[in-house]
Amino acid sequence: MSIEANLNKIKRLLPEQVTLVAVSKTKPNNDIMEAYNAGQKVFGENKIQEMTQKWEVLPKDIEWHMIGHVQRNKVKYMAAYVSLIHGVDSFKLLKEIDKQAKKHDRSIDCLLQIHIAEEDSKFGLDEDELTTILSSEEYKNLKNINVIGLMGMATFTQDKGQIEKEFKNLHRIFKKIKKSTSSISILSMGMSGDYAMAISEGSTMVRIGSSIFGARNYH
Ligand SMILES: *Cc1c(COP(=O)(O)O)cnc(C)c1O
Repeated sequence: MSIEANLNKIKRLLPEQVTLVAVSKTKPNNDIMEAYNAGQKVFGENKIQEMTQKWEVLPKDIEWHMIGHVQRNKVKYMAAYVSLIHGVDSFKLLKEIDKQAKKHDRSIDCLLQIHIAEEDSKFGLDEDELTTILSSEEYKNLKNINVIGLMGMATFTQDKGQIEKEFKNLHRIFKKIKKSTSSISILSMGMSGDYAMAISEGSTMVRIGSSIFGARNYH
């Protein structure tokens, strides 16, 4: 199936309040343009350098989301244009984003990444660390970032029960934090293999790559 057909198929399955991030990492600009011409304006990348190269040449009304792990020394390369950073997993990183956003006289939207998977390899904060950040004075003094939600990735497993449990846990944390923090409205959860379940567990933003663009080839 074509990229456009894949995109339309997924869009028909998404409730209206759920935002689709088309994950275009490793994919060529031609593929992105095919999705763009079919109406998709939000794209996700996991490497800052690759995203910046694409941003430079592709239409300027594309919203670029950084969905991968972010190294602090690279924030400066995307600070001028990035529209949402999903994987913020430390206060130090949040401070660096704030500093770089200030240089561009703008404010950058961020999601705090929560560790919900069993694997140690996945990044993210635990619930206590999240609460500590959001209630600190230092956080309240950051004027050039907006924390607008949470993001999480489930364990890489075929066990649907395990994934469901992890999504439910993240949704619980999201609901709790939303009550006490007025800026929080987005829950980024769900990828090609698990987005239907993520949506039934309360996701408001899904990050879908291979179901739109086909399998990735890493060289
Ligand atoms: C690659 C990636 C995705 C998309 O994965 P697919 O299985 O291709 O849909 C979603 N989220 C993150 C953080 C990713 O790195």
